[in-house]
Amino acid sequence: MYFTRPPWILRKLFPELIWTIPNEENKVFLTFDDGPDPEVTPWVLDMIGKYDAKATFFCLGRNVEKYPELFKRIKDEGHGVGNHSYSHLDGWRTRNREYFADIERADRLIGSPFFRPPYGRITPSQIKVLKKKYKIVMWDLLTGDFDPKASLKKCARRIEKFTKSGSVVVFHDNRIQREFFEYLLPNISVKLKARSLVNLTIGE
Ligand SMILES: [Zn+2]
Repeated sequence: MYFTRPPWILRKLFPELIWTIPNEENKVFLTFDDGPDPEVTPWVLDMIGKYDAKATFFCLGRNVEKYPELFKRIKDEGHGVGNHSYSHLDGWRTRNREYFADIERADRLIGSPFFRPPYGRITPSQIKVLKKKYKIVMWDLLTGDFDPKASLKKCARRIEKFTKSGSVVVFHDNRIQREFFEYLLPNISVKLKARSLVNLTIGE
């Protein structure tokens, strides 16, 4: 199960996390979690490049270690990178010491001011520590791109409907289906400008 849109109560409980990025310029923030992945990342980058869009890739440290050339390509093409931990630990089920060590291990490989908790699961005590070093980025739209049962067109239409200026949209860099993204990206880019988090100073 997943939330397509996060319940408002979460946003209210955790206002220090980034859920949307309000702006006047119709900017939308596309993010890709769990990569880099040799099957997916190259065509995602090709396609984004074609639309002159920018995105942010919340990478797993273990994948950056495995595919350093893909990680380099993401950065070389002007996209943002974020820390998504080293081994995709669940913050609700992991002791803080182990959780923080895993994130630091990823930080040595990724070196980004942005962090997104795996599964979106993070506890108040983890937030308290991590927010000193990172801007913790959640989302306002989870695409369900990884759900094999989802109808691609239907899913894409919902995303089009709910994506608005300031939206932070999550895709999965290891599972997103090409057909889905091929349909979606032009439809989003026509009305909104896809940008990465890298050029942004959040909260200032
Ligand atoms: Zn993830």
